Amino acid sequence: MRLCIALVTLQTTEKEELQMGESLRSRGYPQFTDEHKLFRRTVREWCQKELHPNAEEWEAARLFPRNVFDRGAELGLLGIRMPEEYGGMGLDWWYSVCYAEEMVHSGMAGLTMAMLVQSDMATPVIHEIGNDYHKENFLAPAIRGEMIAALGVSEPDAGSDVANIRTTARKDGDDYVINGAKTYITNGTRADFITLAVRTGGEGFGGISLLMFPTDTKGYSVTNKLEKLGNHCSDTAEIAFEDCRVPTRNLLGHENAGFYYIMQNFQGERLVGAISSVAGAQRVLDMTVEFCKDRKAFGRPVIGFQTVRHLVVQLEAELEAARQLAYRAVSLLVMGQNATREITMAKLICGELANRVMDRCLQLHGGAGYMAEYEVSRAWRDSRLITIGGGTSEIMREILTKLHGL
Ligand SMILES: Cc1cc2nc3c(=O)[nH]c(=O)nc-3n(C[C@H](O)[C@H](O)[C@H](O)COP(=O)(O)OP(=O)(O)OC[C@H]3O[C@@H](n4cnc5c(N)ncnc54)[C@H](O)[C@@H]3O)c2cc1C
Repeated sequence: MRLCIALVTLQTTEKEELQMGESLRSRGYPQFTDEHKLFRRTVREWCQKELHPNAEEWEAARLFPRNVFDRGAELGLLGIRMPEEYGGMGLDWWYSVCYAEEMVHSGMAGLTMAMLVQSDMATPVIHEIGNDYHKENFLAPAIRGEMIAALGVSEPDAGSDVANIRTTARKDGDDYVINGAKTYITNGTRADFITLAVRTGGEGFGGISLLMFPTDTKGYSVTNKLEKLGNHCSDTAEIAFEDCRVPTRNLLGHENAGFYYIMQNFQGERLVGAISSVAGAQRVLDMTVEFCKDRKAFGRPVIGFQTVRHLVVQLEAELEAARQLAYRAVSLLVMGQNATREITMAKLICGELANRVMDRCLQLHGGAGYMAEYEVSRAWRDSRLITIGGGTSEIMREILTKLHGL
C-alpha cells in the first residue's frame, strides 16, 4: 500500500515536472552547484532582457554594438576559465557550459558566435602557450572587453586543409614580415588583434606558426565584409596582409609548432560549438511546442496530432542523448584527460542533430516558419553554420576514422 502511494506521488511529481520541462531536464547533475545555477540565471537574464529585444534591429544592421563585449566582460563571461591575475574568473568548465547554453537566449547565434570567438576560440591558446607579454598585451585586454579578438586560420585556398595555408611570415631582423590573405574571419571587421596562423617554415603542417597580430599594423586591411546566409548580426571578413611587420616576440609558443596548437585550440572551440548548438535547438523545440499548442488545424491544436507529439518527443530524446555526449567530453576535460574523440563525436552528432531539429521545427510552424517575423526562420538559417564552421562534419568523421585506426 505504501509503495502504491509512493508510486502515485512519484507519477504526480514527474507529471508536474514534465509540465515544467526544464526542471525535469536539469535534474540530477551534481556538477552544477548552486553557484553554477546562479551564474546560469545571470547569463540567461542578460540575454532575455538586454540582448533579445534588440535582435531584429541588430540583425538588420548586420552588426551588434561593440558595448555588448563590454557588458559581457563586466559579467565575467570573457574569461570564465582564465586566471584571476589576468582578469579571468578562474572557474571550471561547467561554468563555460552554462555560458554556452544560456547565450542562446539572445536569439542571435551570430552574437553568441562572436562572443565565443572572443572567449573560447581566439584567446584560450594565449593562456595555454603565451608568455607574460602576450597575456598582458592581448589576453587581459580581451578578457576586459577592451580589445576585440579574432582567430585567423582559414584562407581562400585552405579551410578544412589547415596544413596548406599560404600566408607567410618571413623573419627579418627582430620582425616577422607577413604577406597573404584570410577569409571568413569572425569579428574580422573590428578586431583589435588576431590570433593568426602563418607559414614560417616549409610546406605542410610542420611549417606553421601562431602569431599575435595587432590590426593597427601598417599594411593590414579589411578587404571585404561578407554577406552571409545567417548569423547576420556578426561580422565576417576577408582580410589582407601586405608586408606587415610584427615583432618576433609576438610568436606564440615555438616556431613551426602552430599546427599542433591550432588542433589543440580547436578542441575547446568545437566543444562550446556543440554545446551551444544543442541548447539553441532545444530552445527552438520548446518554442515550437508552444506554437503547436496554440495553432489549430482540423478543429484541434496541432500538438493534438499523434505524429506531431511523437516527433517532438523523438527530437527531445535525441537532444538529450547529444547533450550527454557533450557533457561526457566536458567531464573528461575536467578530469584532465584527452577528450579529442568525444569532442569530435559531439561536434558531429550535436551539429547534425541541431540542423535536423531546426528543420523539423520550421516544418511544424507551417507557413509561419517561412516568415521572417517568426524566430524559427532565423534559427534555421543561423544553425546551418554548425556543421561547417570550426571543422565540417566530414572532417569530424575523418578525424574519428584516424582515431579509430581505420
Ligand atoms: C560564418 C563563418 C564564420 C567563420 N569564422 C571563422 C573564423 O573566425 N576563423 C577562421 O579561421 N575560420 C572561420 N570560418 C571558416 C571555417 O572554419 C571553414 O569554412 C571550414 O573549416 C570549412 O573550410 P572551407 O570553407 O574552406 O571548405 P572546404 O575545405 O573547401 O570544404 C568544401 C567541402 O569539402 C569537404 N571536404 C574537405 N576535405 C574533405 C575530406 N578530407 N574528406 C571529405 N570531405 C572533405 C568539406 O567537408 C566541405 O563539405 C568561418 C566560416 C563561416 C562560414
